Amino acid sequence: MYTYDDWKALTAKLSITNKIVAEITGLSEQTVKNQISPSKKLPTWARSMIYMDRQESIQDLIKEAKNVLNDEIPQKPNCDCYIDHQGFFRRGKSGCKISKENHPIWI
Ligand SMILES: [Zn+2]
Repeated sequence: MYTYDDWKALTAKLSITNKIVAEITGLSEQTVKNQISPSKKLPTWARSMIYMDRQESIQDLIKEAKNVLNDEIPQKPNCDCYIDHQGFFRRGKSGCKISKENHPIWI
């Protein structure tokens, strides 16, 4: 389960003081101080805060899904290569570096 070190890491990451934690939890600053100790088991509220911090937000999940989908969809590069009227592959003016073999997808 979560440890004192996890709590220290969280408060450092969020830049929160005992005073802020007291405001959030409704405890007194002294109680926060007393309950958070390397020699004690973390109180439930502290464990809950660590737990919540480690949940992926829905925005993160959506972003991740979009990234995965983008990886799977071949992107049309900046390319204006074409097949001329005689059926020959021609490079456009865009400086496209895609190999000829990989072009048929979009031209
Ligand atoms: Zn091209």
